Amino acid sequence: MGMITVVSYSALTHLECSRCGLRCDAGQVQGTCSCGSPLLARYDIARVGAQLGPADIAARPPDLWRYHELLPVSDPGRVVTLGEGMTPLLEMVRLGGELGVRGLLMKDEGLLPTGTFKARGAAVGVSRAAELGAARDFLVGVFPLRFETPGPVVGALSGIVVHDLPDDELATYRARIEAVGADDVLAIARARIHPDRAAIVMVGDAARIASELEAAGIGPLEVIRDDELAGQEA
Ligand SMILES: [Zn+2]
Repeated sequence: MGMITVVSYSALTHLECSRCGLRCDAGQVQGTCSCGSPLLARYDIARVGAQLGPADIAARPPDLWRYHELLPVSDPGRVVTLGEGMTPLLEMVRLGGELGVRGLLMKDEGLLPTGTFKARGAAVGVSRAAELGAARDFLVGVFPLRFETPGPVVGALSGIVVHDLPDDELATYRARIEAVGADDVLAIARARIHPDRAAIVMVGDAARIASELEAAGIGPLEVIRDDELAGQEA
């Protein structure tokens, strides 16, 4: 009988210091290494490579989480996502010609929900923090520390008056934070963040780049001249 090996959702093994090599438990919330350097996530890449091929990855949905073995979230139910998907490589024919660079490409990360490449890191970070209970524990844990000096106490009390909050707002705060789950956070994010209404802003000479952007078919193009912006507050 052969042995059946199950590929777990994440192949994360440990965290490792980028400078001194110290190994840290990836199952615990960690800051930087005691030597001050960032910790890097390490994965059992050999095992993933032995059990998966490019075709397996390609058959998965075209989003960030198709690479889940090499992401730190161990429970797929903990994934918090706004649908961070694939982004295109666009050919910059004219700019490439001017710069003398043949085959110049621009990766358009503006299609991600937040309009930047940071959406991917944020999605992974939020998911892993939720999995480790970090975000909630942090808010609950630092709550008493917010009231060490008179200023913040007055600030918190005035906030109750200004926003017309119930008298027990502060007394019940920690219990209410502890009751928030990943689904609640995701529901609020979906209600408030609308990728389909987002715009990509490019700054440059419209006469030079407009035709290529239109050809790329990203969406309707609107040109705003800089003298139209003059006098407007950013
Ligand atoms: Zn170190």
